[in-house]
Amino acid sequence: MANLTPFPELSYRQQELYIEDISLTDLATIYGTPLYVYSYSALSKAYREFSEAFASRETMICYAVKANGNLALLRELVMLGAGFDIVSAGELKRVLKAGGDPQKVVFSGVGKSKEEIIFALNANIFCFNIESEAELYRIQECASELNMDANVSFRVNPDVDPKTHPYISTGLKNSKFGVPFDTAIDLYKKANQLNNIIIKGIDCHIGSQITDLNPFIEALERILELIDELKHLGIIISHLDLGGGLGITYKDESPISLAAYAEALLSRLHGFSGKLVFEPGRRIIGNSGLLLTKVEFLKHSPEHQFAIVDAAMNDLVRPSLYDAWHEIIEVTRQPNLTLNEFDVAGPVCETGDILGSKRKLSTKSGDLLAILSTGAYGSVMSSNYNARSRAAEVLVYKDQHYLISQRESFDDLIRRELTDFLTQSSLTKT
Ligand SMILES: *Cc1c(COP(=O)(O)O)cnc(C)c1O
Repeated sequence: MANLTPFPELSYRQQELYIEDISLTDLATIYGTPLYVYSYSALSKAYREFSEAFASRETMICYAVKANGNLALLRELVMLGAGFDIVSAGELKRVLKAGGDPQKVVFSGVGKSKEEIIFALNANIFCFNIESEAELYRIQECASELNMDANVSFRVNPDVDPKTHPYISTGLKNSKFGVPFDTAIDLYKKANQLNNIIIKGIDCHIGSQITDLNPFIEALERILELIDELKHLGIIISHLDLGGGLGITYKDESPISLAAYAEALLSRLHGFSGKLVFEPGRRIIGNSGLLLTKVEFLKHSPEHQFAIVDAAMNDLVRPSLYDAWHEIIEVTRQPNLTLNEFDVAGPVCETGDILGSKRKLSTKSGDLLAILSTGAYGSVMSSNYNARSRAAEVLVYKDQHYLISQRESFDDLIRRELTDFLTQSSLTKT
């Protein structure tokens, strides 16, 4: 039986799964499936837990928009006081559309284009997190053209191993992200010479889904060494951005408590009086969302039983992409459970379209399943592969539910394509 404790807003009432005070069966009836469902209470609790842990210091919590950029969710985060970590001009436009304060935006990412830099300068963001020397000169050039100043930080690779999945480990020496630790001082000196660059901060982001405190402590200690060295050179760092990466429970992981995280960091920060910045994504939204799906067919092969569901890798790619594990539970519990082992598979024509393998479930055609912990890197990574429409999204608060993203229509799917061709011409006609 699934342990629901990591998902505080989920509970069974009699045999029925509820999110807050709403039955998921009711949501499926109203909105159809597949459906992303988010709990506002879980989201706001996760955000507040973060902000309260650092209440004793000036701290800016910049939610990583890439985890889930839905406008309604961003708006709720704005209302809770969040800032934002963005990785593209598109994400910045989302933040601005949601009413976010550009003075609480940090801009990360290894490949910022000139257009994106100019857009962000004009929007007057808080800071660029620079990831290479070439980017430093590009930002200088853009700022100079606009006759503006750019506030910058360097994303330094402290070269600590976060002991997480290699695809989501980003702070090692040979990572494409950030600048090598050994070159950081030199880059700060160069930046200090540039007319339109204002050195503000230093940042790092060592990976994602980290459940061990030590890599964060090691990273902080290395960054503090740099801050000290810079101070001796007369370069003052006014904010320290420790990135995101805090893990959550998907299966049986024990996440780092925010209290322990804050205590470990704050106790080492006596020598630094500047502002703190964090960039959590998954920790804020991951366990605030689930993907609701319907079983289409049960199918038996010699070695496997498949539960073929109406959600697929185009809706949730993490299992296929990272071999990620998501808890899958029945929305209606049968009184006399006969559990069978299923591979829960989607309709997409790929062998890798498996949302969960070897799951003990009691289910049949027409039943609903909930795929848990899918608030982060779920809908935002969805695609139209196999000409499938992206799922609708619903936000729940107590006994209220709000549609925050419509299911895509066929017209949405072909919107970018030029249908002139269908009537006027064919390339073979002469
Ligand atoms: C992805 C990312 C984050 C958020 O990571 P989580 O693991 O979701 O907390 C924060 N900062 C940067 C630079 C990132 O690339």
